[in-house]
Amino acid sequence: MSECLFCRFVSGEITPDVVAETDHSLAFRDINPQAPTHVLVVPKRHVVNAAELAQVAPAELADVLALAGRAALADGHEDYRLVFNTGFEAGQRVFHAHLHVLAGRPLAWPPG
Ligand code: 5GP
Ligand code: ZN
Repeated sequence: MSECLFCRFVSGEITPDVVAETDHSLAFRDINPQAPTHVLVVPKRHVVNAAELAQVAPAELADVLALAGRAALADGHEDYRLVFNTGFEAGQRVFHAHLHVLAGRPLAWPPG
């Protein structure tokens, strides 16, 4: 049994609200949505952040990004924001790489 929450989602030990999946990535709705669409896309491989995924398996990072775009479109959004919080100070709380897909409301810049 993994101690990593998102590895538990990938293994099926816990079932999140899945919206889409590929061989390498899983997309599911965030439990605490910050926008009308708030999907998380995770690589099935356990890595702590996106930069590590780029190092070890760049095609799998591309797969995460492609699935994020499809998840936004599936909810009817051509405009969306993609965010990888990387490190505690940047807001990362789950240390399995995950891409936030935010859409469905105006998004301010710069972010908080
Ligand atoms: P981070 O802060 O690490 O960038 O993002 C972690 C995200 O995971 C947060 O947006 C948080 O709401 C989400 N999250 C935490 N626990 C769960 C859970 O059990 N299920 C789902 N679907 N999302 C979760
Ligand atoms: Zn993991």
